[in-house]
Amino acid sequence: MSIKIRVPTPLQVLTKNQSEIESAGEDIKGLIDNLETQYPGIKQRLCDESGKIRRFINFFVNEQDIRFLQGDRTKLNDGDIVSIIPAIAGGEHQNKRVKELTDSQIERYSRQIILPEVGGAGQLKLLSAKVLIIGCGGLGSPCAYYLASAGIGKIGLVDGDKVELNNLQRQIIHFTKDVGKLKVESAKEKLKAINPDIDVVTYPLRVNSQNILDIIKDYDIVVDGSDNFPTRYLVNDACIMAKKPFSHAGILRFEGQAITIIPNEGPCYRCLFPDPPPPGMVPSCSQAGILGGVAGILGEIQATEVLKFILGKGELLLGKLLVFNALKMDFRKLNIQRNPGCPICGNKPTITELIDYELFCSARKE
Ligand SMILES: [Zn+2]
Repeated sequence: MSIKIRVPTPLQVLTKNQSEIESAGEDIKGLIDNLETQYPGIKQRLCDESGKIRRFINFFVNEQDIRFLQGDRTKLNDGDIVSIIPAIAGGEHQNKRVKELTDSQIERYSRQIILPEVGGAGQLKLLSAKVLIIGCGGLGSPCAYYLASAGIGKIGLVDGDKVELNNLQRQIIHFTKDVGKLKVESAKEKLKAINPDIDVVTYPLRVNSQNILDIIKDYDIVVDGSDNFPTRYLVNDACIMAKKPFSHAGILRFEGQAITIIPNEGPCYRCLFPDPPPPGMVPSCSQAGILGGVAGILGEIQATEVLKFILGKGELLLGKLLVFNALKMDFRKLNIQRNPGCPICGNKPTITELIDYELFCSARKE
């Protein structure tokens, strides 16, 4: 077994001026003991009297901070590269680490910090991220719960409705005592209770062509959890115009659909469905029904897509429409192409300003 160790300048006096040495060890603790036999005096520089790694020295295994792995019990494998990084006064290194996680944040988020795809750096990204959730209903409820608990620093909630008794079967962020309360207020209360660390901003209104651009401009990514076609098309068009990524999901009965849209990087919702269906053509959940768990699955898929987007990890549902059928318990991914003739993101867009779709749709209803 051979472990490569990168030695910082202050310790090179003990390693015969070598900046890179080799040693072995089952874990970091074992490695330090072996180093001590090779280079006497080095352990005392790395650890205190009780054998704990000194607080101004950090160990990284293959670029991962061991404080977010298993500390000095982090296992080592043949070929691993261990970097020893001490604090350096006045250096750039310190300036870069102005923002640190507190002990309680490390504890709260430990189960995701331990993931190599998240780590301390990823957690800091989540804490500084801003996500807007449009609709605090069946999709928005589970999505908001997971984003708040993961530590999304700022969550915006948009909904003009009040909680009704028939919402509670799937809109799990609202409780029986909340009936009659504004949905955004009811949701904010729960999110702050889960995680007092985060900022929750409420917009007790329905988005329209006049206000949507102003609301979405402050956020990194938008979650569309709305329950009607006029809002869905408005969110799509506004996000394409403002170049905001967004996560779309739709639910009906036992079925769900989800797609993640990043302007200029893949197709948009209108590439898939250029125009909203005429009123009455596609039933709504209030007419056709919805199983609560289906809303939960789709809302959680949206939350997961948002977290991956912020972390910059994994493959998003970009150009992929995920179609879920709960009765068959079947997930399928369909490839969606960007449509050069798309009225909003195509080569010659015909939609150049936001339309008040609600008026448009109700006019057609006449
Ligand atoms: Zn498009």
